[in-house]
Formats: sequence, C-alpha cells, structure tokens
Amino acid sequence: MSERVLIAGGGPVGMVTALALARRGFPVSVFEAEDRINDAPRASTTHPATLELLDDLGLVGEAMRDGVAARTFQFRDRAKDAIIAEFDHEILRSDTRFPLVVQYEQHKLARLAMKHLREFPGTEVHFSARAVGAEPAAGHVDLVAETAQGQKRFRGAFLVGADGGRSTVRKSMGIEFDGYTWPERFIVLTTRFDFEAQRGYCARTYFSDPEEWANLFKVAGEDGKGLWRVVFPTRPDESDESALADAGVQERLMRFFPKRAPYEVVHRNLYKVHQRVAAAFRKGRVLLAGDAAHINNPIGGLGLNCGIHDAVELAQCLERFCGAAGGPDELDLYDRRRRTINIEFVQSQTIANKKRLEEKDPLVRAKSFDELKATAADPVRHRAFLLRTSLIDSVRRAALIQ
Ligand SMILES: Cc1cc2nc3c(=O)[nH]c(=O)nc-3n(C[C@H](O)[C@H](O)[C@H](O)COP(=O)(O)OP(=O)(O)OC[C@H]3O[C@@H](n4cnc5c(N)ncnc54)[C@H](O)[C@@H]3O)c2cc1C
Repeated sequence: MSERVLIAGGGPVGMVTALALARRGFPVSVFEAEDRINDAPRASTTHPATLELLDDLGLVGEAMRDGVAARTFQFRDRAKDAIIAEFDHEILRSDTRFPLVVQYEQHKLARLAMKHLREFPGTEVHFSARAVGAEPAAGHVDLVAETAQGQKRFRGAFLVGADGGRSTVRKSMGIEFDGYTWPERFIVLTTRFDFEAQRGYCARTYFSDPEEWANLFKVAGEDGKGLWRVVFPTRPDESDESALADAGVQERLMRFFPKRAPYEVVHRNLYKVHQRVAAAFRKGRVLLAGDAAHINNPIGGLGLNCGIHDAVELAQCLERFCGAAGGPDELDLYDRRRRTINIEFVQSQTIANKKRLEEKDPLVRAKSFDELKATAADPVRHRAFLLRTSLIDSVRRAALIQ
C-alpha cells in the first residue's frame, strides 16, 4: 500500500489503529498532542473478543504477561455485603480462545502498540503535535497540526480521528456528537490496599447500592505488585474540590470499606461521563475511531474495547478500499458496522449496567438481583449473558452487517 494514513491522537485506539494499518502495509503517521502517552488511570478491562484481536496483532502475549487475569466477576449487594451472582468466563471455552478478562491498563496497551509499530518501515509518531484542523480534498486529506516548530501541514490519503471525546477532527468535519451527559461525575481512587487478601473481593466486582454504588478492579500497576481502583459516582451537587480533597476521599473509601488506618491513595481522578455517538463515523476520506466516535459510562468496561474493534475494522475496510476491487462502499461499511454495534451493544449495555447498580426502588432492585441469580445459575443463560458482555455477540452481529 502506498497510501499514507494520518492518525490524530496517540491514545490506545490511535496506536492500535496505526499498528493494524502498518501490519497491512500502510505507511502511517500518528500525531499526539501531548509529549508522551497519557497514563491517567482509565480503562483496564479487556474482554475475550478484544483479546482475540490483540492476538491477531501480536500483542496478546505481552498483555497477558503484564496484566491481571480475571476469569470471574461478581455482582454484590453493598448494603448486605453479600454476593448476588458470580459469572465465570470458563463457560465460553468453546466460543473463544480466551475465556477470561485481562485487566491491562490502557496506557500500557498504547505503549505496547507503539513499540510494535516502530518495527514497520514508513511509520512516524509525532509527539507534541496537536491537530487543529482537517482539510479534505479530492483524493487526499490535509491535517494541520501545532508542533514545536509552529503550525505545519501534513498530507495523507486518509485521516483517522482517534483524538478522544473532544475530537478536533470530528468538530472540524462538522460531525454532530449526539447524546447526553450524566449529572454526576465518576471518581476513581487508586490504592495498594489488597481487597482480595483482606476482604475476599475478586479482581472485578460491581457493588449495587441505592445510596452510592461502586466498582472495584485490580490492575498490575507499574511494579506489577497490584493496585486496586475503586470507582464511585459523585453527588450531582458535590464540587470537584470537595470530592477530590483528602477528607472527602477517605470518607468515601471508609464508608464503603471501613478499616482502622486511613487508606494510602496513590491516585485520584474525576471524570465527566457521557453517552454520545457521532452522527457519522466516516465523511469522505476522514474516519473516526474510539472515543472520538462514541463515549459511554465505563460500567462494564466497554468503551476502549469497542475502540479496538473499530481500529481493526477500519484497517480491514481501508485495505479492501485500496485493493484492486475496492469501492467507496467499503468505507461506508465501516460506518454501518461500527456505529450500529456501538448503539446496539455498548450504549445499551452501559446504560443498563448503570441503572442496575444505582436502582433505588426496592422491588425493582430485588427483581434485578433475582434475575442475575437465575442467570448465573442456569448454564445456558450464563453463557448467553457472557457472550454479550464479552462482545463476542457484537463481533458475530457485525459480520452480518453488509
Ligand atoms: C474511569 C474510567 C474507566 C474506564 N474503564 C474502561 C474499561 O475498563 N474498559 C474499556 O473498554 N473502557 C474503559 N473506559 C473508557 C476508555 O478509557 C476510553 O474509551 C479510551 O480512553 C478511548 O481511547 P481513545 O484512544 O479513543 O481516546 P483517548 O484515550 O482519550 O486518547 C486520545 C488521545 O488523543 C490525544 N489528543 C486529543 N486531542 C488531540 C489533538 N487535537 N491532536 C492530537 N492528539 C490529540 C490525547 O492527548 C490522547 O492521547 C474507561 C473510562 C474511564 C473514564
């Protein structure tokens, strides 16, 4: 392939897209606004269908070696500190090569993809290069970027906007980002306190609570010794300052998981949470992927996973488009498949997940718990539930969209 692909955004989706394209012979140039890969704690849950894609890209060995394997996950009733249901990916053994989740921090994935990318000739990664505009023309597209040497213009055959939720590429193409923003924000607190050894919680635990739900995850951390991340909603009227202040942080952790000594909190972060999908994932020679195309609340760990699926589909579509028999429909197929999948699977599941954890009506809560228990107890329903949460169903559905 001689067509250079420009990619705005060197986050996990930008780097994985670049690698997927480079492996198909495309020269690629990545433009990242910051001077390094952002290592703020965000995604880590990597589902079976995504592990298969990472395997095809030659990344899964290192991801599994450096990540935390999580074969099971639990729903718990916070008020009673009781397990509602436990799900075990082992039941998917005949459906996937990877019947487990791997907790692998997203900045490690971006770094790993960049390391592999550098093995391919014709690839460039520009840090401190902020995309400020996209200028499409017949047969090519220009990207204007602010660099340390001033504003520069780069030309490619295609441009991928993988520049996150506030995507400059999406805005510059005039593509609407329809949806809404939740009134509360999510606070992520990271601690070394070992919730498995001390409390018996597993590496992925979802706590339902009408007052204040929580999600608990284990990740490896930089030293591999293990860190635990707890995600809580803030109250809509709570200021960012008070949520992030030491007193507020300790109070929140103690309320959920009381202990004598204060928590050692190694990281704290606050995120706005949205449900939004771009009106189009493709306009001419410009394509959107990852958070630039869709954002959702993180309960269920689906946003980045979906972005990695975008990356692979995008590379396949561009390869077919640039091949001998390719036509414009190949690019539209990217939009049809990925947009549909995001709405049908990611948006609907993450909204349902949030409602399940925060439900206040005792009768609805009890019904939802009964439903989860019955699902986990029945092997047919257990498998069906995991086929959906692990995105295997979404891959099967995407293949049917022509
Ligand atoms: C608390 C939390 C937990 C989450 N957990 C999970 C999970 O477990 N599993 C999951 O699948 N998802 C999860 N998500 C969602 C996940 O973090 C995102 O979907 C993911 O970051 C999307 O990756 P991306 O590369 O598309 O965007 P980003 O990670 O936002 O990367 C975009 C990159 O583009 C750069 N950039 C921005 N503007 C420009 C510009 N103009 N020019 C050049 N570069 C630019 C940015 O600096 C950044 O490096 C979570 C999110 C949050 C907030």
